Amino acid sequence: MSSVVERTFQQFLNASSKHSLKKNRRLVSIRERKDKYRYKLNFKETVTADGRTQDLHNWRSNNIVCAKRIILAIPMFALSKINWAPLRSRHFTDLLSGTFIVHASKVFMTYKSPWWLEDSKYPTRTLQASGLGEVYGWGQSKVSGLHTLLVSYNKLIATDEQWVANNGLDEDLLEDSVGGVIDPNAALPILLDEASHLPPIKGSAPGANQVTAPLKDYLYDRLALAFGIPRCAIPEPLSAIAGFWIKYPYGGGWVLTRPGYTFDDIINGFRRPSDQHDVFVVGSDYSSRDKTGWVEGALLTVESVLKEFF
Ligand SMILES: Cc1cc2nc3c(=O)[nH]c(=O)nc-3n(C[C@H](O)[C@H](O)[C@H](O)COP(=O)(O)OP(=O)(O)OC[C@H]3O[C@@H](n4cnc5c(N)ncnc54)[C@H](O)[C@@H]3O)c2cc1C
Repeated sequence: MSSVVERTFQQFLNASSKHSLKKNRRLVSIRERKDKYRYKLNFKETVTADGRTQDLHNWRSNNIVCAKRIILAIPMFALSKINWAPLRSRHFTDLLSGTFIVHASKVFMTYKSPWWLEDSKYPTRTLQASGLGEVYGWGQSKVSGLHTLLVSYNKLIATDEQWVANNGLDEDLLEDSVGGVIDPNAALPILLDEASHLPPIKGSAPGANQVTAPLKDYLYDRLALAFGIPRCAIPEPLSAIAGFWIKYPYGGGWVLTRPGYTFDDIINGFRRPSDQHDVFVVGSDYSSRDKTGWVEGALLTVESVLKEFF
């Protein structure tokens, strides 16, 4: 997948000697100026280690770029944090309140053999609120020969009284209404495990993608319950990696539109947050209907913004 991104960057750079690419910069603010380059963008230099990105704090870490027009390709949560006056307007606040962000987490582990398929271990009943979310056999790697299990795929929609009321739902039914895979009390520790400062388990990815012993124990207890086998029958993983979509800059896995809002108004509003400005926004968080939350949706918003405004 990264080769697609790398080739696209190369094409962009080859297309004109005026094109350039600067990595590891976080857009902090946009200011207006009285000049043909109407916008002054302030970027903070960042550094990423073990999947964690942080601002650099030294006197050279602020970078200023001037622009006539801007296209921002950043998620909605990060967009809302940029210091730019139109993003504090009533119009933009209304757009934000027409959407909500779904948190998500995934934990993968690999094994020498697919123990979950052996001896008819797989569950014969659906377990309510197991805390694992969804579990998938992810197949065998042609490179390493190892078998991968997506041990847990959780999605957490924050309980929101207004959303519940708009759907005519009883608050107790909310979690069931989105597929019955969410256990809000159980899912939260998984989603917050990234904050843990404990060391990773043996074989785990480091940093932001690490799996700690408490997280593994939490998942193994529930796997044993779900498969109806003793906890000690589950082998130790050879490798493990976790992803948590909850924090800045993503804020969540994807964005949904609240009932009661007109979808096109929301999408068109985000694409150009202020009619007075040549600042445009693209990305899957702003894509339409069934494309939201998919790479295809992100690419379609680029096409639509370029077609309509450039
Ligand atoms: C668990 C999960 C599974 C998924 N599975 C699939 C799948 O199977 N197929 C599929 O098509 N899609 C999938 N998606 C969705 C897919 O990942 C997104 O739709 C896609 O990455 C969105 O692309 P984007 O360019 O809009 O935003 P992103 O890929 O989120 O890129 C935005 C970039 O902006 C950067 N950024 C943020 N703030 C700033 C700032 N202030 N300054 C500078 N840069 C900033 C971020 O670091 C990031 O690099 C999945 C998503 C999740 C969470």
